[in-house]
Order: sequence, then structure tokens, then C-alpha cells
Amino acid sequence: MKRREFISTLGTVALTGIATPLLHGGSEKLHIVSLSFDDGFRKSFIRIAEIYERFGLSGCFNVIASAHMPGNEVRDDYMKQELFGDFELWNELQDRGHEIMPHGYRHAHLPGLPLEESKALILKSLDIFSKELRGFDPQKAVFNFPYNQSSPELEAWLPSVVLAFRASGGTINPLPSPNTVKITTGGFGPGNSEEHLDETVERLLAQPAGWIVYNLHGLDEEGWGPIRPAYLEGLLARLRTIDSVRVVPTARALMQARSSSFGRA
Ligand SMILES: [Zn+2]
Repeated sequence: MKRREFISTLGTVALTGIATPLLHGGSEKLHIVSLSFDDGFRKSFIRIAEIYERFGLSGCFNVIASAHMPGNEVRDDYMKQELFGDFELWNELQDRGHEIMPHGYRHAHLPGLPLEESKALILKSLDIFSKELRGFDPQKAVFNFPYNQSSPELEAWLPSVVLAFRASGGTINPLPSPNTVKITTGGFGPGNSEEHLDETVERLLAQPAGWIVYNLHGLDEEGWGPIRPAYLEGLLARLRTIDSVRVVPTARALMQARSSSFGRA
């Protein structure tokens, strides 16, 4: 069956306006690409969203819940206070079809804290999202660990509060199934990560099927392992020409795996 027939037969299952159904007949190649942008850099995220929109695609943005608040405790050499966006912008980007997901309350190294304190910070980040991001539902959310650092205890507990979580463990995942709760990711830094990302895409395309969840941050000089806007545009343009590739944000890929035949192959 051709892709167009799939679309007309089954419709879209996406949560927002921009949709690419993830459907897998079982015998065809399927490569999902999720570029997972962290932290919440205002300038970069606006630019990234615009680039995705040129291709009718949805970006995957993970933001630190308290980063916009005066006096917050987010501290990192790569994240200057004045660079962060706020929920007014996150709501606008969501309205435009992009995915906005939690990336911690204050970007703490969660496994280094007492378990109850880590859980409290995660719940606090979900509370802020519920209050500030229109329509936010933790049961449809991916929690993206700060520094991708998790612990077995947190991983065992998280599926009771969110749909899934993202942690370190490699950039190429199996295709999502209706039961997927753990997504693994990786990236490159602190310098430009384009070459490493290109290699990762080539490794994915050499397999019959799989799902890249590649952790990025900002554009140009912003954030850990940045890429250039022209590179991102070129990459998306190239990926759009490959029949087996779907460029989809992570939570949407999981929701589509849960609500379609995708993943039964
Ligand atoms: Zn981060």
C-alpha cells in the first residue's frame, strides 16, 4: 500500500495539526528520526521551529520547567539565564504543531539526589507543565532526564506518572511498540555535532528499521553540541526525500505506536 492510501484509509492520529502517520506494513523499511532539542533556548527554538515548518514537520522540544522564573536555580555554563524562553513561547510553538515536553524542574543531576527528592522534582516539573502548557497531560508526556541521567529506581517509578522517559543508552532505538516506556538517546559535544549526527543517520539507514532519538540543544553557538541552521535545513530536506524516513517528535511516535498497527511487525 502506498503512503497516500495509508493516510486516507486511517487518517491521522497526531495530537496537533502537522502530522505524518507512522504506519508500518511489516515488510517495508521504516526509519523514524526524532531530533530531540533540549533546555529551551528562545532564539534557537524559534529558528528550529521555523525550519521544521518549512517542511511541514513538527519539532521536538524539551524545556526546563522553572528556567523562565526569576531567581530559578538552573545553573550551567551552557545555559545563561537570558537565553531561555518561557511558556508563552512554548504554548505558541505547541499551537503551531510542535511538541513541548519536560526536561526537569531545575536541570538537576537526579540520580545524585535522594530518591524522594528526585521524584519530588520530577512531579514539580509536571505540575508546572500542567499549569502553564495548554492541554498538557502527563500520561501523554515523555520525561527527558537532565543530562540523560536516570537511575533504575526512577525508571521503575516513572511509567506510573508519565507515558515514557528518555535517558542515555544509545541514539538508535528499535521501532516503538505499544509498550515502549524507555527511549534511549545520545549526542555529541561540546563542539559542533553535525558530523556525528550524519554518521548516526547513515547507521540507521543501513538497518532495515529503527528509530533515532538524537539529543541536540541549540543552533550556531547556543547550547551543547550545536548545529548550524543551514545544516538542519539541509538534513531535513534530505530526509524528506527518503521514502522510508518519518521525522516525528518522540511522544507522537509513541502515541502513534499505541494507536495504530505500527509496531506489530
Ligand atoms: Zn539539558
